[in-house]
Amino acid sequence: MKLFTASVATETNTFSPIPTAIENFHESFYARPGEHPDEPKLCTAPLWVARRRAREEGWQLIEGSCSFAEPSGTVSRAAYEQLRDEVLDQLRAAMPVDGVLLGLHGAMVAFGYDDCEGDLIGRVREIVGPEVPIGVEHDPHCHLTEQRVAASDILICFKEFPHTDTVERAEEVVDLTLRAICGEIRPVSSIFDCRMIASFPTTREPMRSFVDRIKTLEGRDGVLSISIAHGFPYADVPDVGARILVITDDRKAQGDALAAELGRELFAMRGRTAPPYLAPDEAIEAALGIDGRVIMADPTDNPGGGAPGDSTHVLRRLIESRVERAAFGPMWDPIAVRFCFAAGEGSRLRLRFGGKTAPTSGQPIDAEVAVTRLVRGATQTFAGGSVPLGDAAAIDLGGIQAALISNRTQALGTDLFTGLGIDLAAMRLICVKSTNHFHAAFAPLAKEVLYVDGGGPIPRDPSQVSYTRIKRPIWPLDESPFD
Ligand SMILES: [Zn+2]
Repeated sequence: MKLFTASVATETNTFSPIPTAIENFHESFYARPGEHPDEPKLCTAPLWVARRRAREEGWQLIEGSCSFAEPSGTVSRAAYEQLRDEVLDQLRAAMPVDGVLLGLHGAMVAFGYDDCEGDLIGRVREIVGPEVPIGVEHDPHCHLTEQRVAASDILICFKEFPHTDTVERAEEVVDLTLRAICGEIRPVSSIFDCRMIASFPTTREPMRSFVDRIKTLEGRDGVLSISIAHGFPYADVPDVGARILVITDDRKAQGDALAAELGRELFAMRGRTAPPYLAPDEAIEAALGIDGRVIMADPTDNPGGGAPGDSTHVLRRLIESRVERAAFGPMWDPIAVRFCFAAGEGSRLRLRFGGKTAPTSGQPIDAEVAVTRLVRGATQTFAGGSVPLGDAAAIDLGGIQAALISNRTQALGTDLFTGLGIDLAAMRLICVKSTNHFHAAFAPLAKEVLYVDGGGPIPRDPSQVSYTRIKRPIWPLDESPFD
């Protein structure tokens, strides 16, 4: 038995001012056959799991190329076609195969392609024919189009947000694909369009209980898998929005009914799934009133959602409020990092940083800073893997210590700070740019977590996103989309 695996992944914010080129994939993660390290890299968990299963069970795994770019603007047509065709050529060379495993983020948009994953899976299907099972793992922040569901046999989204279960879900993708190859199951997909745009962190209610209950429905009564596709709101494509996907063992009508029931249940939670977002001054005041360490997260400038990560609104208010014992990061500014390296560790200089990339990035900060630590090729840890920060600098603004990085990414691991010598144990306030991935590593340090609307480029309110092509009706743009 022989399976083929590969990964092409990014999350495209079509409103982002930062286009995505082939270099962005090389900068974040790119591994040709034989080069993939022995750890899962966010969207490559199917490869990593299949490697182990192949070794244990004595079948052959052909590894294709794997690539991931930090979320940013629309992918260049040449970059997408190059990465796609590289994988398709590798698959052709590996034929005949008994199954295909793909690690795809699920929200990649390229110039000329609204649905990159639908295009890619469709072309894989053309090569392998109708009988060979195709298993796909997705980030829940995806556009779950009918085209991609129809072209694949097993499609499973991570259930947790923060995405701490990429490996667990990959185990299911690999397991169900192997069972389909053996003819033990006949997977059939049912999809329900919830007609809503929302954020669904699973670290809070009502989502926590919803996800836990969904897990108890799997693996019995012919239900093989249930995915909640949260949707990715920052793309001007028709299929934005939440969906429920139920995969049954050849029980289409039952799957359709269950998907609709769960989808209506999710819709009934609208307006209650996301945390409250405070204005920066409100959040600072609340934080200072809490006896204990507070984490303050700004999702509106989250590079993980395609934002630049150089907005200065929140930091400026922290400086003006003369906050003490605070850490702030990450701030993406490769030029400022370069200046810090030029000045050297232990130096003091007038530094201009942040506020460069988007109209919503705010004005740059001008401050006298001390360069406290410089690290070449710094990394942070997330979900068992390491995420590159590029060259990075810790600067002391007097009361506030900030982490400047040159590789765009959100706050994921506490080593974002501690790796730069910033002692989080000494802080009473830790401010991060992230929507909810920070929560896994940072929340255990805090008495309380506050979410702040920092006025950055990815607004929390969908009515502030300038959609032109989204399928209507959809909540909250339309009050009652099911009427
Ligand atoms: Zn995601």
